[in-house]
Amino acid sequence: KLYNMVQDLKGNIRVYCRIRPSFRANTKSIMDFVGENGSLLILDPSKTLKDGRKHFQFNEVFGPTASQDEVFERTQPLIRSVMDGYNVCIFAYGQTGSGKTHTMSGPSGGTSKDMGINYLALNDLFQLSNQREDIIKYDILEIRSCNGDGLSLPDATLRSVKSTSDVLTLMKLGEVNRAVSSTAINNRSSRSHSVLTVHVHGKDTSRSTIHSCLHLVDLAGSERVDKSEVTGDRLKEAQFINKSLSCLGDVITALAQKNSHIPYRNSKLTLLLQDSLGGHAKTLMFAHVSPEADSFSETMSTLKFAQRVS
Ligand code: ADP
Ligand code: MG
Repeated sequence: KLYNMVQDLKGNIRVYCRIRPSFRANTKSIMDFVGENGSLLILDPSKTLKDGRKHFQFNEVFGPTASQDEVFERTQPLIRSVMDGYNVCIFAYGQTGSGKTHTMSGPSGGTSKDMGINYLALNDLFQLSNQREDIIKYDILEIRSCNGDGLSLPDATLRSVKSTSDVLTLMKLGEVNRAVSSTAINNRSSRSHSVLTVHVHGKDTSRSTIHSCLHLVDLAGSERVDKSEVTGDRLKEAQFINKSLSCLGDVITALAQKNSHIPYRNSKLTLLLQDSLGGHAKTLMFAHVSPEADSFSETMSTLKFAQRVS
């Protein structure tokens, strides 16, 4: 309750930054972060920044040792507000390899250890709906995957689910599909957005109906594509992806600035997410960064994007 009140005052957009662990021994991290108050200090390995450092402020910063459970704990109140009729959108932004899929889905392989937000959220919603006798009906899950350019969306698969194990089965199916397409087309999954949508339909004890939705989005990698390396369809695809990501940034910035015009119609992605961005909806962006010095410029561009929307 208090959390929601505090967040409502700030508007309904919040940004969490997550730094993945370094996989290389003996590389000095460029990230310095300050405890619990969402403060992040970037040290500049090449000293191009003024003072050799830059400070960012987010709602939360999760360091390399943060567990999936810790991250979920700070996300849970938002997810639970779906049961109170709020539309919610949670998305993971960042360059390929920065940990987006880890946060949303968990490590590949799909065992129950280290499961990501998708699973933990659905599990939590099921538990909550079983506890709450005022919600009479709650059973719809829709899995959508927008592949490729972010402008064409294949038909959504709509499935009813009754339990967390149904969800797990569906997610495994989703993973299988992803794996197939990524071998068929060079690392496709990092070049596509993946959207999991949960619809909640219910009646509370006062007989008023609840219709709300939760979008869980693993975005395509935000890295700029080197035009000298890709041509033709791949280049077109990369440009569409970058366009859909910048449209998303424009929409969230417009919302944060409380502009009267919100440019939802500029991309399929923002059109799809429209009902959970703005209005009374709550939005959470995870800005994912890698800690290594050679990711410095991509890290800076992710943090600036995140700063712009927060
Ligand atoms: P992305 O989806 O942004 O391309 P991934 O989630 O696939 O990145 O992460 C890249 C690699 O790093 C994967 O092997 C993943 O398991 C690992 N990884 C990412 N974040 C973490 C983390 N917080 N803790 C442990 N391993 C992580
Ligand atoms: Mg990924």
